[in-house]
Amino acid sequence: MEMERRIFVMKLVTASCMLGAATGAHAQAKPMVNEADPQAVSLNYKADASKVKHAKYQSGQACSSCALFQGKAADAAGGCGIFPGKQVAAKGWCTAYAKKA
Ligand code: SF4
Repeated sequence: MEMERRIFVMKLVTASCMLGAATGAHAQAKPMVNEADPQAVSLNYKADASKVKHAKYQSGQACSSCALFQGKAADAAGGCGIFPGKQVAAKGWCTAYAKKA
């Protein structure tokens, strides 16, 4: 009886972990990069690429097409290797932009 109860509890915990991962609850908890953050300023990060006024920027470039963007194509935001622990806007841009291969 005790063993059955333990197995039931283990299945319940596993199911709840899988549900959390499937809903992306952990990813959504990450804060967005603030354009005023020192690192964001040094990389000229803008959450809206259409507002970028930088010589390196080329029309059509955005975080969603950057090799460092960790979100999916349809995500509005996602992680970025340059800003660990935070999310960048899919429509954003910074000078570290590198087109996805
Ligand atoms: S490195 Fe790429 S994904 Fe990250 S902020 Fe810059 S342009 Fe966006």
